[in-house]
Amino acid sequence: MTASSEPPPPVVTRFAPSPNGPMHLGHAWSAIFAHDIARAAGGRFLLRIEDIDGARSRPDLIDDYRRNLEWLGLEWDEVPAQSTRLASYAAAADELASRGLLYRCTCTRKEIEDAGAREGEEGLIYPGTCKHGPADPALPAALRLDADKALREVGELIWNDAAAGPAAADLSGFGDVVLVRKDAPASYHLAVTLDDAADGVTIVTRGADLFTASHIHRVLQALLGLPVPLWHHHDLLLDPEGRKLAKRRGSPALSDRRESGEDGLALAAQLRLHKTKAGT
Ligand code: GLU
Ligand code: ZN
Repeated sequence: MTASSEPPPPVVTRFAPSPNGPMHLGHAWSAIFAHDIARAAGGRFLLRIEDIDGARSRPDLIDDYRRNLEWLGLEWDEVPAQSTRLASYAAAADELASRGLLYRCTCTRKEIEDAGAREGEEGLIYPGTCKHGPADPALPAALRLDADKALREVGELIWNDAAAGPAAADLSGFGDVVLVRKDAPASYHLAVTLDDAADGVTIVTRGADLFTASHIHRVLQALLGLPVPLWHHHDLLLDPEGRKLAKRRGSPALSDRRESGEDGLALAAQLRLHKTKAGT
């Protein structure tokens, strides 16, 4: 490196929970992972509440997430919740639509199933029905990305995971993903990509269950001229049977553990040391 080269940007990571259910141990590990990467680099650790799923998001839980992070000994800067950023999602969708990259889709789940769609990375891969025959303007519609057209525009793209190494962005497991939902102002993919850029996130950390979603995010970054972060996907905590921890399988809510007087710092230390055993 020469004296004139730019210093690398300061590291910024974030924990971005969707408060659709109580915070559990898997969230704790995700938050600690992001926090520790930022702290080790002298960078910033952000909290962003991802609350645009009107049907599932529970505002009453948001403060619990904060209290649990405090209890685990983490410090963060909180950035605005997704529900305050709807205008930026709409602007990006308008921009993509004006370039002919989105199309309206009125299909129901049943119609997609009946069209013989095959299973992809996140459910059925959309068979393209509405791309070929214009959707009824009177019906509620989602907006889908025309993946073929998008890929022609951006060409070959590489994204980098700190653990897994470089990968070529590949949408074949997704097809034409929804960017604007029928029932929400943006899909997870559009919102998270815009927000990570707006918040200056330099290392996107999250569970390995969302690894392949980064293919989509990389394409959206290229389409929208956004900076490209590094990614670092982490292993998921497993229960004693080797299944992903989730509240619905009986993983105790962290707030119950906090309120019962358990030592949050000790739990955080245990997760750092031996995370796969901590769920027991
Ligand atoms: N909000 C998402 C979730 O709780 C995670 C977002 C992300 O880290 O990309 O599952
Ligand atoms: Zn459709």
